[in-house]
Amino acid sequence: MIANLIATLVEEDLAEDDGVLAPDDRLTCHVHGRWIHQCVASPVHVNPVTRHRWCRGCDAELGVVVDEVSGDVAMRCPRCGRGGSAATNRLIAACRASIEARRAA
Ligand SMILES: [Zn+2]
Ligand SMILES: [Zn+2]
Repeated sequence: MIANLIATLVEEDLAEDDGVLAPDDRLTCHVHGRWIHQCVASPVHVNPVTRHRWCRGCDAELGVVVDEVSGDVAMRCPRCGRGGSAATNRLIAACRASIEARRAA
């Protein structure tokens, strides 16, 4: 499992450096060295500019709920209960894919 994570990390680092993989589509996180769903709750994954995990209306970070068993991932603003954006949707999709990838490992 760890070997698979490291292999995927290296592969994605190279693909990203080559410009063929967008950071948003990575299943691993090069900052934390983990699958994206395992560290997405970290403040490092909040970005008010791109609106990753950010509610513009409330100026607030979205809370994260990851259910590895069902594979479900939700991100909601603790103030208004919404706070969605294209960037956050993409992050949710990456988390769901990384749960799948980890299972397959
Ligand atoms: Zn991370
Ligand atoms: Zn909000």
